[in-house]
Amino acid sequence: MKPQPLILLVEDEPEIRGFVRSALQAEGYRVHEAQQCARALIDAAARHPELVLLDLGLPDADGTQFLRRFRAWSQAPVIVLSARNDEGAKVGALDLGADDYLTKPFGVAELLARVRAALRRRGTTDEGTTLRFGDVVIDLARQSVARQGVPVRLTPVEYRLLEVLARHAGALLTHRRLLREVWGPHAVESPHYVRVYMGRLRHKLEPEPARPRHLLTESGAGYRLLP
Ligand code: CA
Repeated sequence: MKPQPLILLVEDEPEIRGFVRSALQAEGYRVHEAQQCARALIDAAARHPELVLLDLGLPDADGTQFLRRFRAWSQAPVIVLSARNDEGAKVGALDLGADDYLTKPFGVAELLARVRAALRRRGTTDEGTTLRFGDVVIDLARQSVARQGVPVRLTPVEYRLLEVLARHAGALLTHRRLLREVWGPHAVESPHYVRVYMGRLRHKLEPEPARPRHLLTESGAGYRLLP
């Protein structure tokens, strides 16, 4: 039998650590804990966790320092645990490649839903040559898109934006990250590009473009493709 995924929990507050650990263990996940950034980096390198839950306010460093170093060698999903007044730090962490965030205090159901979604994403993004959401199929090899079996014509930029969103389905992608991945590093100060192109994708792919079900706006943060 395949062992349950190992989750690295980086959090210095004992109460939150205990709460998260018991919720995860009750679901059968293996949990390793670290209380400091430096220790977490050592443990991550030694243990190769399948997912990281990362508090941003650590005693020896900002959690984003962990993220920067970790992302240099691992694409395992990272879910940031942020305080309510931490908007800037949260978006900064998403820019650096975090997959999602949970705002403290959060409940068990929300925690487990995010963890499951992040692990599912990890399991599906590397295999196969098609991505699906709703009635849309993206053929990655042919770089073509069909909706209800009918081909949809997308411009190269529309296609790239859709592919990035679909490859990270479920994750929250910031304006900066989308700009960097679709338009390139020179474009990161032009968030209106993303807004305009998201509108075009919704018109081509959503049943009701004004009330999108899959191509969602997360106000103040970015966009999320919901499968
Ligand atoms: Ca903390």
